[in-house]
Amino acid sequence: MPDRLRVIVWGENVHEHKNAIVRQIYPEGMHNCIAAGLREDRKLEVQTATLQERQHGLTKSALAATDVLVWWGHAAHGRVADKVAERVLSRIWEGMGFIALHSSHYSKVFKRLMGTSCSLTWREAGERERLWVCQPAHPIARGIDRFIELEHTEMYGEPFAIPAPDETVFLSWFEGGEVFRSGCTWRRGNGRIFYFRPGHETYPIYFHPIVRQVLRNAVRWAAPEGKWIDRCPNVPIKKARETLTQKGPRLHKEGEAGFR
Ligand code: ZN
Repeated sequence: MPDRLRVIVWGENVHEHKNAIVRQIYPEGMHNCIAAGLREDRKLEVQTATLQERQHGLTKSALAATDVLVWWGHAAHGRVADKVAERVLSRIWEGMGFIALHSSHYSKVFKRLMGTSCSLTWREAGERERLWVCQPAHPIARGIDRFIELEHTEMYGEPFAIPAPDETVFLSWFEGGEVFRSGCTWRRGNGRIFYFRPGHETYPIYFHPIVRQVLRNAVRWAAPEGKWIDRCPNVPIKKARETLTQKGPRLHKEGEAGFR
């Protein structure tokens, strides 16, 4: 793992401007609060980007210089340009880590990564949530006790229409009786993906010290390990490891780039 990880916290930054409750809790914007929690780890170089910026702040060069992307979206998934979503996906396949928070289960990028609807059940009753640690030895659960308790949350319940996770790190129980797979990991291409459920905008979830610790752990866990560029390189006959002669017909010139 590199000594310093370059992180972008991406925020949709819509509710903060439209809803007085959200603005009061997050006057600097949710993305800045999430970023502040990550900066408690001094080895993380954390920047922010928002929907409103040119190319949503996710230009080719910005993404090329990013190891882990943290994503919070809710009301404006459809306003994320397809071109930008595709660019993010390419970087994940190359090896960039991706942390999807709360309602980002319905973001374009997360849905493409999962290949399923990502639907779930939900309720806004300000009820208690207890996130049980399923894998105490997992790096994302490092330093966390048996469970995390959040006094007031929005409920997300099963069925959560995701492909079976590689690992389920947290499982939530809600006061109303539902359960939910709240902390799940996958790999797609070379990228590591973590979904973390808490983070409804009308509660101060991202100020919670244990939630912040989970996010710092998750960013470190999602650090890239190497990189593979998606370009389908041709291997010319003369570069084959063993001696080869041309036997069959050839449609393409040797050394040609792959087709997209
Ligand atoms: Zn929510």
